Amino acid sequence: DQAREAYRPVFIISDFAADSEEWDYSLQARLESALSEDRISIKLQPQADLRDGRIVGAEALARWVDEERGDVPPSRFILQCERVGRLDELTKRILSKSLDAAAALQTCDHHPRISVNVSAIQFVDSRIAELVEKNLAIHSADPAKLTIEVTETARIENFSVARGVFEQIKQLGVNFSMDDFGVASANLEAMFELPFDEIKIDQIFVRGVHHSETARAIVANVVRLARDAGLTSVAEGIEDRETYDFLRETGCDLGQGYYISRPMTLSNLQEMMTLQKDTPLLRDKYG
Ligand code: C2E
Ligand code: MG
Ligand code: MG
Ligand code: MG
Repeated sequence: DQAREAYRPVFIISDFAADSEEWDYSLQARLESALSEDRISIKLQPQADLRDGRIVGAEALARWVDEERGDVPPSRFILQCERVGRLDELTKRILSKSLDAAAALQTCDHHPRISVNVSAIQFVDSRIAELVEKNLAIHSADPAKLTIEVTETARIENFSVARGVFEQIKQLGVNFSMDDFGVASANLEAMFELPFDEIKIDQIFVRGVHHSETARAIVANVVRLARDAGLTSVAEGIEDRETYDFLRETGCDLGQGYYISRPMTLSNLQEMMTLQKDTPLLRDKYG
């Protein structure tokens, strides 16, 4: 027991070290140059209409490959941007690249919509609305082809302020999706308080469909909840045929996940859109 006790502080110290100022500082310097040199890019992950498998949209996911550290996961650098007040700058660049992509995809048969992630904490004032309006104009993009996926809805402190910002953006013709439905504690309150058009069922439930009756019950009932509330339902994290079929049978509208396609480059997506075949059959080629 004594030996075990002796180990404990070591783990605490190493946890602390991973989160120390020194470590953040080095990441911060690299992130700052990546932002100023515009080296943070996007990958687009197709979203399929589950009834016929056609690609009707894509989610823009931020990607940063650092020379020394390699792939830095978005969860890591987005938190870092938030800590140092650079989240608006990141959003500006991602939004700009996403609307560029949306414009490029306008020529495709089924002109897909693009979903862009924006953190709930960015709905505390009108800056995000101004950013969206300005970028729609710059790129002459169709607002109806832009969806804003709001992440971390549990962090909304003032719903009436957030609602005002939502309304400003909705007036432009942009749609709203609630990301990670089911995992953020205030999801139902946010669904009730804010004018969402869509909910995205979190992948922890979708990936549990195989082995958990509870997961199947949650997924089926969230799909029904969305339908009864007049919202579109989207399932993320569909990794195999069985899950795809289950989601389709529950009446879920849209699906996203490795089974349909991994996140890809714009040119790959354009090629995929041009072919417009049943997407699961194309996954090996584009995955
Ligand atoms: P999210 O918005 O829920 O995005 C879905 C995540 O699941 C993505 O991870 C995607 O690559 C991954 N994914 C997609 N299909 C599958 C699948 O079938 N199986 C599994 N296991 N994973 C799948 P990623 O790209 O690492 O992004 C993580 C999170 O970072 C996102 O979760 C989102 O919350 C945030 N994020 C990404 N880009 C941005 C951005 O531009 N702005 C903001 N604010 N957040 C972003
Ligand atoms: Mg998302
Ligand atoms: Mg999501
Ligand atoms: Mg998620």
